[in-house]
Amino acid sequence: MSSKSTTDVRLREALEASGQRFTEQRAAVFRYLARTDVHPTAEEVFLAVRTRLPAISLATVYKSLETLVGCGLAVKLTYGDHSARYDGRTDPHHHARCVSCEKVLDMPGELLKGEIDSLRATAGTFTVTGYRLELSGYCPECVPAQDLLVTT
Ligand code: ZN
Ligand code: MN
Repeated sequence: MSSKSTTDVRLREALEASGQRFTEQRAAVFRYLARTDVHPTAEEVFLAVRTRLPAISLATVYKSLETLVGCGLAVKLTYGDHSARYDGRTDPHHHARCVSCEKVLDMPGELLKGEIDSLRATAGTFTVTGYRLELSGYCPECVPAQDLLVTT
């Protein structure tokens, strides 16, 4: 976790490098993302940021999040029919998603270069630019009793 001023400096530099302005709204959204590990939805960011900036709108939060993603300061995690979640951590790590409550947890680790190379080889004519590994299962609060647990 970095201090508020370090976070603001990082934000300012990344915004300016992308030709974007530093605004209090963007800063509030980024500060929240930088200090949480819950991978919030836009609505959740809105509810958290609104306590400090009561006039902010959900649309502004949504646009700020997209700006942060565009500047490489956040990662958007999309889930088919579910709404997107945002991650302020951009260093390599995996995710684990609870199939019951849909909570997304950070998992340490990244694929080794050799593993990525072999995936790239099997991809044939598809040009691989990245990967995402997500484990699915149950968080500690949702895990069913052992005799009900079905694994694949
Ligand atoms: Zn859960
Ligand atoms: Mn994460």
